[in-house]
Amino acid sequence: MFPLPYQGHVNPMFQLANLLYSKGFSITIFHTNFNKPKTSNYPHFTFRFILDNDPHDERYANLPLQGMGAFSRIILFNKCGADQLRHQLELELSAKDEPPVSCLITDASWHFAQSVADCLNLPRLVLRTSSLFCFLIYASIPFLDDLGYFNLSDNTATPLLDGLGYNNVPDDKRLEEQVAEFPVLKVKDVIKIGFKKDNDGMGDIISNMVKQTKASSGIIWNSFKELEQLQLETIRRDIPAPCFLIPFAKHFTTASSSLLDQDRSFLPWLDQQPRNSIVYISFGSVAQVEEKHFVEMVHGLVDSKQSFLWVVRPGFVSGSTWLEPLPDGFPGERGRIVKWAPQQEVLGHEAIGAFWTHSGWNSTVESVCEGVPMICSPFWGDQPLDARYVSDVWKVGVYLENGWKREEITNAIRRVMADEEMREKSRGLKQKLDASLIEGGSSYESVESLVDYISSF
Ligand code: UDP
Repeated sequence: MFPLPYQGHVNPMFQLANLLYSKGFSITIFHTNFNKPKTSNYPHFTFRFILDNDPHDERYANLPLQGMGAFSRIILFNKCGADQLRHQLELELSAKDEPPVSCLITDASWHFAQSVADCLNLPRLVLRTSSLFCFLIYASIPFLDDLGYFNLSDNTATPLLDGLGYNNVPDDKRLEEQVAEFPVLKVKDVIKIGFKKDNDGMGDIISNMVKQTKASSGIIWNSFKELEQLQLETIRRDIPAPCFLIPFAKHFTTASSSLLDQDRSFLPWLDQQPRNSIVYISFGSVAQVEEKHFVEMVHGLVDSKQSFLWVVRPGFVSGSTWLEPLPDGFPGERGRIVKWAPQQEVLGHEAIGAFWTHSGWNSTVESVCEGVPMICSPFWGDQPLDARYVSDVWKVGVYLENGWKREEITNAIRRVMADEEMREKSRGLKQKLDASLIEGGSSYESVESLVDYISSF
């Protein structure tokens, strides 16, 4: 198994690894030096370094470690990784004292792995860590680009790696219009994705990811059928590879695959808070805000008068090490701030009443798994698509779609904390998910058929 070295990709790959191990498979993980997993947490897996473990290899020496620039690594590894991957796989395939290799499972964004696997006659399955809907939209980017959606403003042509996103979408009435081809979306949702056809390295990564996912032997999704039934039907119609939808958070936590240390010191405080009284705030492992927007968040939160638990990752506020821009006296008695939390455990805690999230797909699924309604502040990529679904389709959250305005933040927090209908819908979705895990349910069957499928190779 070969995860992409980012938290939102490492977590589901290790959850899948745990699941397959529990079904009797031996697991070998290929990993980079960058964002190296905590191998000691997995004494039962075999680990192999790949790609960037030579300190003298200048190609990898000066790549940015933080922010969007860190994605330049994905572009480079996809361009230069084939020989090393083939070499490492050949070693695994010829090892005499190890169980035979049945398949390679890579992150979908390691698109270069498909041709390597083909050369070795090795089935390659992909793990796609976004929603099925996002995959369909990504597959349509060239088409949407040809229709001119990305040309509404010069600004919007800025490639992802230049830091496009949530804050840079221009003010234009047309952006509020529906996308005729995908009526659930507004034009601005498409623009917020942040990359378009052929304009930069990430555009290429996306189109190759789509192409090589279609060419794979199977696609594993962190989702469940009842959540994305129509999308599943479309994908099954268009792609011959079998699909397996598994809501990983219901099988294993991400505690062992966390790249940062999870602070647990606030849990006794959380235990004392009334049911559904706390807003949990976290924006994942990569997103960054400008200081002025961080300050709006603080004011919106204070004015809402709600208690909160806030994960502020070091580096979350661009230009600051950690909490320098906070006003004196904040957070006070009403809240706690930590650098990194055991998110799944927090979301499952009865004191949590809402999740203010950047709408990363793992965070979204984890929130659905626990029946927690959301306040969505997406940045780029799949996040604006997830936020639109959460608010307009599943109706289990509010999308803060006009940027960082303290009044809107306050209103959204108050609304989500008080809206019983939305809480009920969130519980309903969780119940569907729970039912899918019981023998005969769709998620249960997906695990069984994945195991049978891999065993058949
Ligand atoms: N996460 C965590 N502790 C935190 C914040 C996040 O363990 O304090 C985990 C979260 O549970 C999720 C992952 O980090 O599994 C973030 O993935 P997501 O797709 O939501 O966002 P990304 O980091 O990829 O933007």
